[in-house]
Amino acid sequence: MKKVKTIPRLMFEIRPSKALPGEVATFAVRNIKKGAIIADIDSPEEAVILPRRYFKKLDKITQKKINSFAVLDEDAEYCLPADLNNIGTSWYFNHSCSPNVAYDKRGNYVAARNIKKDEELFLDYGWMFDQKFKMKCACGAPNCRGLVTGQDSLNSEFRKKNLERMWPELRKSSLKK
Ligand SMILES: [Zn+2]
Repeated sequence: MKKVKTIPRLMFEIRPSKALPGEVATFAVRNIKKGAIIADIDSPEEAVILPRRYFKKLDKITQKKINSFAVLDEDAEYCLPADLNNIGTSWYFNHSCSPNVAYDKRGNYVAARNIKKDEELFLDYGWMFDQKFKMKCACGAPNCRGLVTGQDSLNSEFRKKNLERMWPELRKSSLKK
């Protein structure tokens, strides 16, 4: 086991959701200033890519968990936690069409605006690409899209509004349709 002298300050934790009864959610444990890093992309929690043909060989219970967490990318490969028995807390951001968490240009999770202690944290799932993802949304935001899909990032109007907050790979202009 590696010995360390410092560890990152705790920024958020898992609690029962207030917005989505029955679900778990992430909550700020302190006031967080706009732009501050909430979770570092270089944290030890690792994401891995699993080709779809390997997914098919897995047992049903494992597949179900992967389907609820993983993103299916443009090459039909799953991006998922390296170890489903040790899932990091940043996999638990729920969706809102008016989120308070965004990606920075490195892929860190940052505060999209000033966040108050004990506020529930949300990301916009449209800021990730997933060729299969579709979800009905009733987040209550005035700008709620009603239907959130893993292809929202390809919509030119959505891109214009959200480019600086999306997953870095998606900001490339080659994706524009
Ligand atoms: Zn919504």
